[in-house]
Amino acid sequence: MKYYSTNKKVSGVSLQDAVVKGLAEDKGLFMPDSIKALPQSFFDTIETLSFQEIAYTVADAFFGEDVEAEALKKIVYETLNFDVPVVHVNDNIYSLELYHGPTLAFKDVGGRFMSRLLGYFIQKQGENNVKVLVATSGDTGSAVANGFLGVEGIHVYVLYPKGLVSPIQECQFTTLGQNITALEVDGTFDDCQALVKSAFMDDELNAKLKLTSANSINVARFLPQSFYYFYAYAQLKKLGKANDVVMCVPSGNFGNITAGLFGKKMGLPIKRFIAANNRNDIFLQYLQTGVYTPRPSVSTIANAMDVGDPSNFARVLDLYGASHEAISAEISGVSYNDEQIAETLKACKQETGYLLDPHGAVGYRALQGGLAANETGVFLETAHPAKFLETVENIIGEKVEIPQKLQEFMKGEKKSLPMTKNFESFKSYLMSI
Ligand SMILES: *Cc1c(COP(=O)(O)O)cnc(C)c1O
Repeated sequence: MKYYSTNKKVSGVSLQDAVVKGLAEDKGLFMPDSIKALPQSFFDTIETLSFQEIAYTVADAFFGEDVEAEALKKIVYETLNFDVPVVHVNDNIYSLELYHGPTLAFKDVGGRFMSRLLGYFIQKQGENNVKVLVATSGDTGSAVANGFLGVEGIHVYVLYPKGLVSPIQECQFTTLGQNITALEVDGTFDDCQALVKSAFMDDELNAKLKLTSANSINVARFLPQSFYYFYAYAQLKKLGKANDVVMCVPSGNFGNITAGLFGKKMGLPIKRFIAANNRNDIFLQYLQTGVYTPRPSVSTIANAMDVGDPSNFARVLDLYGASHEAISAEISGVSYNDEQIAETLKACKQETGYLLDPHGAVGYRALQGGLAANETGVFLETAHPAKFLETVENIIGEKVEIPQKLQEFMKGEKKSLPMTKNFESFKSYLMSI
């Protein structure tokens, strides 16, 4: 399969180059030349297959031409060694719990898959010294660091804003050691991202080091997120609820929902999508006006979605031939403020006993008012509520139990290198490693 750039100045790129480069040279995002439809027979029996079997079929459609079958199977099976259950919450609303992986957030799927696929290509190329730079406001750093932990030939540098990530999140990437280095930047998340971007643009650094990025612009991180949409459908089919499925996706950079849209293109019978936003409602504005106007993000209690210029919007446009009408026909949008998110989280706990995290709460609320009687709604529960401990405990007025996996991270010793937000000091650090 060849990949082209959403900016249309680059095409014919191999999967290997798309994964190693991350972003195209014209600054666009890579898209596969074609999206293969899966056969009807697959959907007829999907409920008899395991998550790993389903995922392998989907992975084969994307990557089968470029990765040997046995290697791809191993990557899929190693990535998905945890469950992604569909849980009934209320009426015709279900939660797709994506938080049973090592760092308790959905980004584990993409982080783990990408680390293994990149590892596979690096071994093939005979490279052994690739540096992954990742800026994080919390969840991405932990998923990427844990995904890449112990992968040979790759060293990960996590840049995070000092004092601005929660203590639980911080320990998920500062206590690992081995091939993971945490850089504690005296600045904001935007400063971290600016340092990473400057590094990618610096000729001297790129002549010396093999640098790559691991956020959802990378096809190896975002495409695997389609796997669990298929598995959710299989579980609904088992329950006799697979007609008129509405998928509601709490969205920030729009990687997660775009993966679902790819699934629909492959034939997955999802009736429609809802993009659920916090106050950063750039996509909703686009749906309402037909004009895309990025603006600086505002901070909310669903902070993993505090994005003012969603990077994967370019992929959504490309997928629908830039037609506002076609996009609006399949995707609707909602936006809720912090008060509404908190109110929903609290009411859901009281009325159903189900504990949402602030991101899942945005998705749940959208389905509460937004389903026709015949529709089944599934929202993606993108992180475990304990990852946002203080926020959630304050809202419900109760203690939240911290899962064993998170407690293990909290026992480790925090190690990080202090870094200023000044590019010259970051550059001289990178030149010295
Ligand atoms: C990253 C993240 C999101 C947003 O996902 P996108 O793919 O960026 O739209 C939502 N919820 C949580 C908990 C996240 O970590």
